[in-house]
Amino acid sequence: MTQHCKVLIAGSGPAGLTAAIYASRAELAPIVIEGEPSSTSDQPGGQLMLTTEIENFPGFPSGTTGPELMASMRVQAERFGARISTAKVQRVDLASSPFKVWVQDPETPEPTYRCDALIVATGARSLLLGLPGENELIGHGVSTCATCDGFFFKNQQIAVVGGGDSAIEEALFLTRFADKVTLIHRRDKLRASRIMQERAFSNKKIEIRWNSVVTRLHGDGRLDGVEICDTLTDESSDLSVTGLFVAIGHQPATEIFAGQLDIDELGYIVTGSGSRTSVDGVFACGDVQDHVYRQAITAAGSGCVAAIDAEHWLANLGS
Ligand code: NAP
Repeated sequence: MTQHCKVLIAGSGPAGLTAAIYASRAELAPIVIEGEPSSTSDQPGGQLMLTTEIENFPGFPSGTTGPELMASMRVQAERFGARISTAKVQRVDLASSPFKVWVQDPETPEPTYRCDALIVATGARSLLLGLPGENELIGHGVSTCATCDGFFFKNQQIAVVGGGDSAIEEALFLTRFADKVTLIHRRDKLRASRIMQERAFSNKKIEIRWNSVVTRLHGDGRLDGVEICDTLTDESSDLSVTGLFVAIGHQPATEIFAGQLDIDELGYIVTGSGSRTSVDGVFACGDVQDHVYRQAITAAGSGCVAAIDAEHWLANLGS
């Protein structure tokens, strides 16, 4: 039988759970569809579940870990009455409020939920190389976020994979800490904008390995090197590094909203004022609508914005 709720939140990273804390404290009794694990790199709680040390989330002077932070946010949301369901949103119908949301069989005529307002916080997944051991080494030498983890690599030799703006930005940022940054790119030309390319070329700490792909990760429990294959000669060589930053793009989780919400050319939900999307009553927060900042704290902040926007929108409707 279809359940009705005032606010349904899809996603349980820092954006979704912060939205849940605010919405539940506003007595909107939100339901959070937290997702369900389909692999080690895809589990409820979002990207932070793959992050070990977090030293830049305000309020934790001695640092914390991603899973601890997400567990605390979850408990805090539940304390105020948010109901959390371990399931995945399979289909939505946003033609009019109350919006229809299916979490089980998307083919059944009756939706699982009807909600007056919907907050989309489904996040974005960092693309990985797909190498054996990669998931296990995340947080132990392999990273997808220089802002988060660069500090841990002071005076070390590290590598960045990718040739786009993100890879160059990460490589440049990492030169503040590392002795040397090797940029590993699969072609002989960077995809990054000219200005970023010039910055990389003129930085003495950055060496570029052209026409190269990472084929193996070395290290038992902690990365201590990578195997690189030259795509022109097919020759393999080892590079001794303690960190590997994979910056080959992100995939926002917006497939189920295609054709119903405005989505930009990179796949992210377009938000206008605050967290408003192209559909009245649907709000988006966190990485699913942010390809610039992508931080736990900015996601949490935008979750707060989305909950307040939803609350105001419902109040104007008289709900
Ligand atoms: P991107 O532009 O799609 O670049 C991804 C890079 O990773 C490409 O160089 C690609 O190689 C490489 N790559 C993809 N799959 C790979 C694989 N399996 N193995 C090895 N290499 C792989 O992604 P992005 O850099 O994250 O940027 C996304 C968007 O955000 C872009 O529009 C970008 O301009 C923008 N952005 C802007 C800034 C800025 O202006 N400061 C900063 C960050 C991002 P190929 O080149 O061979 O395809």
